[in-house]
Amino acid sequence: MAQLQPARGTQDLLPAQMRRHRRIIETAREIAARYGFAEMSTPIFEFTEVFARPIGEATDIVAKEMYTFVDRGGDEITLRPEATAGIVRAVISNGLAQQAPLKFFYTGPMFRYERPQKGRFRQFHQIDVELMGVAAPQADIEVIACGRQILDALGIGGRVVLELNTLGDRESRAAYRDALVAFYKRHLDDLSEDSRRRLERNPLRILDSKDEGDKRINADAPSNAEYLTPASRDFFDGVRRGLDALGIEYKVNPRLVRGLDYYVHTTFEFITTELGAQGTVLGGGRYDGLSEIMGGPPLPAVGWAAGIERLAMLIEEPPEGRRPVAIVPAGDDAALPALKLAEELRRAGFVVELGYSGNMRKRLQRADKANARVAVILGETELARGAAVLRDLDKGEQEEVPLAELADRLGTFY
Ligand code: ATP
Ligand code: MG
Repeated sequence: MAQLQPARGTQDLLPAQMRRHRRIIETAREIAARYGFAEMSTPIFEFTEVFARPIGEATDIVAKEMYTFVDRGGDEITLRPEATAGIVRAVISNGLAQQAPLKFFYTGPMFRYERPQKGRFRQFHQIDVELMGVAAPQADIEVIACGRQILDALGIGGRVVLELNTLGDRESRAAYRDALVAFYKRHLDDLSEDSRRRLERNPLRILDSKDEGDKRINADAPSNAEYLTPASRDFFDGVRRGLDALGIEYKVNPRLVRGLDYYVHTTFEFITTELGAQGTVLGGGRYDGLSEIMGGPPLPAVGWAAGIERLAMLIEEPPEGRRPVAIVPAGDDAALPALKLAEELRRAGFVVELGYSGNMRKRLQRADKANARVAVILGETELARGAAVLRDLDKGEQEEVPLAELADRLGTFY
């Protein structure tokens, strides 16, 4: 029989890998809470229209990456490819905009039909923060600072650099777009087919192209700095001043446009050189117009998302959980007392492994394999005295302890 495999681009998270994910999620959750981001969640699938128009028909995500299907009731459904559009939908559906500012932390699986490779999957996981209802640069600074602190707390702060750019307001963006279209039209014959297709609908994306020929052309492309309105320039200066004041280093990258249609003003990415082409571990920006595109009230907002799989490849292996107490019954008569003792100790908060079967040597070997700190050996003579043998597995020493004092005595090992 052929070996049963998970679907392409998906993977099982076995315990060691899951520990990495948990470490990332728990660190991010804790730090996001310090900034006042409240955790929320939205459905894994939504009506396709929640994603299609807001993200942009000409973006890679909508044009070729969405898992879209018609369900049994005839509804057009899409598995969420990212968190932001669903969160904004939830804010509108629940009428939360009046309570702005809104600050959310989010984590969960995302789905994109991509070509699987290192750091790129079809089901992957993100952590995400969104700050809504604040039009001032202070919000951009705060979400970037939060990302920085999370990466630092994960121990990878020194291995990522922050790249920063501004797209300016809509007016700046439109003027720049026209300049880019005019420029690329002069290089039409040399552009990749993908980029020729992007030219009319999403020319900013060409700047992001990974094609070598496109990259050469891009080296001479106009810079957006010349097309920024004075207000856009002021906004960007405000963001930079704040980051400077916090001592957060960044490099301005005028080519950083990011994939989604809804960005204005600030865009940013934390990038590492250690994951090859999939070097962006965290990316985000300001998306002031998104709520209105979705039929909601005006709601300026800024946020980011980070890929958990990519972060998991960078962090150090997290330690295993607490070391267990191994309970080793010696002889058949000790089996039930061992079972009861294990339950009591678990109720008291200990991690307990029970030695199930085999001779004493085998059971102690299993205790060792489970990385137990101590073994409680229940022998018939000791049990008759209301006691057990407590064995320190690191030192190899042992002593007899009355059962009534066992929990207290065990406590001294942890
Ligand atoms: P990329 O340029 O790598 O395709 P993106 O711009 O599509 O990234 P975003 O939509 O900004 O990515 O998602 C934020 C983060 O989520 C990325 O920086 C990355 O860490 C992670 N991510 C995105 N797509 C995938 C994927 N298919 N597999 C694993 N992680 C991903
Ligand atoms: Mg992508």
